[in-house]
Amino acid sequence: MRMSQYFLPTLKETPAEAQIVSHRLMLRAGLIRQTSAGIYAWLPLGLRVLRNIERIVREEQDASGAQEVLMPTIQSADLWRESGRYDAYGPEMLRIKDRHEREMLYGPTNEEMITVLFRDGVKSYRDLPRNLYHIQWKFRDEVRPRFGVMRGREFLMKDNYSFDIDKEGARRSYNKMFVAYLRTFARMGLKAIPMRADTGPIGGDLSHEFIVLADTGESAVFCHRGLVDKDILSREIDYDSDLQPIVNEWTSLYAATDEMHDKAAFEKIPEGDRLAARGIEVGHIFYFGTKYSAPMNAIVTGPNGDSVNVEMGSYGIGVSRLVGGIIEASHDEAGIVWPETVAPFKVALLNLKPDDATVSAACQKLYDALGASGQVLYDDRDLRPGAKFADMDLIGIPWQVIVGPKGLVAGKAEVKNRKTGQREELAFDDVVPRLA
Ligand code: ATP
Ligand code: MG
Repeated sequence: MRMSQYFLPTLKETPAEAQIVSHRLMLRAGLIRQTSAGIYAWLPLGLRVLRNIERIVREEQDASGAQEVLMPTIQSADLWRESGRYDAYGPEMLRIKDRHEREMLYGPTNEEMITVLFRDGVKSYRDLPRNLYHIQWKFRDEVRPRFGVMRGREFLMKDNYSFDIDKEGARRSYNKMFVAYLRTFARMGLKAIPMRADTGPIGGDLSHEFIVLADTGESAVFCHRGLVDKDILSREIDYDSDLQPIVNEWTSLYAATDEMHDKAAFEKIPEGDRLAARGIEVGHIFYFGTKYSAPMNAIVTGPNGDSVNVEMGSYGIGVSRLVGGIIEASHDEAGIVWPETVAPFKVALLNLKPDDATVSAACQKLYDALGASGQVLYDDRDLRPGAKFADMDLIGIPWQVIVGPKGLVAGKAEVKNRKTGQREELAFDDVVPRLA
């Protein structure tokens, strides 16, 4: 992509309305614009990041055996009357009427809808387990939308729902998501720690929030430091095997959100290993048994011919919140530092003298060679070098290839790593292989 043709409205000044660094940087780097309170338009650069996050989420869901569907954003009030939640949900639900005065709503979540789809489609325990997910916009009329996409009113969520014949099956489904979530966040370069969360009246230990540590996070959290350095990506995962040992490994060290905090247990941890911090909730997994299947009659025939209410769980990931969360975890003075897996482009190509035919020809050659995969942002704009350096550092693309007249005389280009700041002078022909 040529920057001279790209819709990329960056800002020099710090927007006054943005209180936290990720919100400031998302506005300054031209990723998003607010269109109403808590509602954002995604501009080309931001959308590329959002799509990359979505892709990783999708790949890990598919690998775990979950199946993708797409449910609508608009739902009927009657659906929610079946579960009893229409009246219970409160002012966070955006209620709408259609031209026939029928009561509708913009979905804040999809338990009711998926339960009906399941109820109509599955009648026997032989067809279990099932796990269905979608990635869809939600609306919650938050009292205090703030921090940009971190707490929006309209936001993109991956939510899925598991259906099992019994509690043991539900735990297996839960464990699959637990592991899939560890992998999902790790692939985005995040350290997201699973922390025990409140299960409400259902009780038990099957609710975890996945929390990215950040000073600007809205949740107070407590955990064992050992969890910060644990790694999931170096091991093979077989989703058909028993995942309980992996889950145990992660849950045997103390980690809890504020609501579930057990001070006495925390103080048993050696002082140097105690971590009391703030964090951002990027995912939440939850077993809730028959909470919806009972009132909504989602019943299957069990092995003995009896009628069984299916055991359900639901699992959310804040896809749009993650864009902000990743920036909170990965930025410096100059701007965003994208982990390679979610970066909007892999390489930035900087032409320091676009009015010099030799420099431009050399850049064009590199652009053609690197750009085949559409992963290069080429700064061909007629601007002074300082402005280009500042913009590229702000945007945070992992690799910068810098081409100017001086280097060119020696047949060289400079390659800079955005994260480490390390620079390398490379012979022209070595640039493409170096970045491959
Ligand atoms: P929170 O405690 O932050 O209000 P929640 O517990 O209500 O979130 P869930 O219903 O568990 O959220 O939704 C699943 C995921 O969706 C959350 O883990 C979070 O990452 C994301 N999410 C929830 N509300 C918002 C919002 N207003 N803006 C952006 N993302 C959100
Ligand atoms: Mg939650």
